[in-house]
Amino acid sequence: MTFDKNSFSLAGKVALITGGARGIGQFYSIALSKYGADIFVVSASQKGWEDTTQKVEANGQKVAFLQQDITNPDAADDIVAAAVAEFGHLDILINNAGVQLRNDVLDFKDEDWRSVIDVNLNGLYYLSHAAAKVMAKQQHGKIINIGSMQSYRAGKRIFPYTASKHAVMGLTKAYADALAPYHIQVNGLAPGYISTEMTKPLQEDPVRGPEIAAHIPSGDWGQPEQLMGPMVFLASEASDYVTGVMLPVDGGYLLR
Ligand code: NDP
Repeated sequence: MTFDKNSFSLAGKVALITGGARGIGQFYSIALSKYGADIFVVSASQKGWEDTTQKVEANGQKVAFLQQDITNPDAADDIVAAAVAEFGHLDILINNAGVQLRNDVLDFKDEDWRSVIDVNLNGLYYLSHAAAKVMAKQQHGKIINIGSMQSYRAGKRIFPYTASKHAVMGLTKAYADALAPYHIQVNGLAPGYISTEMTKPLQEDPVRGPEIAAHIPSGDWGQPEQLMGPMVFLASEASDYVTGVMLPVDGGYLLR
């Protein structure tokens, strides 16, 4: 491989992004399309589809959508097949869809445990498996799993979230090892404390909000835009010799 500015290009690539039409996922759709990738979004609802269409097309790329519940194990092969049918191949999978439910330890409900694990871990696994089968035949591919600070640390009111994000780290390593012979890199990106709808309750928590800001060396919460460059790096051939890592993008939060 020759390194030049095209090493970060995603021209001709196709990326399947779960939850890629809103929240942080939309920023990944915009980032990858800016670097030349066509985007296939799968999400539970049609929220954000119109806005994402405008933003991806403004970058000169195509976008297609599929409404599907990723927790359905029978849907994964169909989701991947739909992306391939739309664009001809699949080069990048970003497992971004995720949910978080909070409660006090003694009140935590089994059904809430199951529903978080189902999206954040089981759905991610089903799609990774389905994509790996296609990418292995192609002899190339990138799988990028979204972790979190809870891939490393506890979370006092978000038990299944913490368990799922630790498991995502484990699966990232095991899949990276198993898929390396097929020239598929599997990495994770662990956003720090990013200012979004999902983290609004935490930002507004009178105790935890200021506590978290004080723990971040720069003193401020991250913005979704700050995840875009690291994501392009992990999706591009510039990172072809990087596999099995979870890259924290956290303003140094984990340093303390
Ligand atoms: P949002 O709640 O804004 O978006 C979640 C996305 O996941 C939505 O697009 C949603 O679809 C999709 N989704 C949820 N369940 C399913 C399902 N069963 N099937 C298909 N799609 C589903 O979350 P964020 O953008 O805040 O977070 C995105 C990722 O980043 C998550 O994995 C989260 O854990 C992680 N993260 C977020 C941080 C933050 O600060 N916000 C920090 C660290 C990690 P729909 O639009 O149809 O509802």
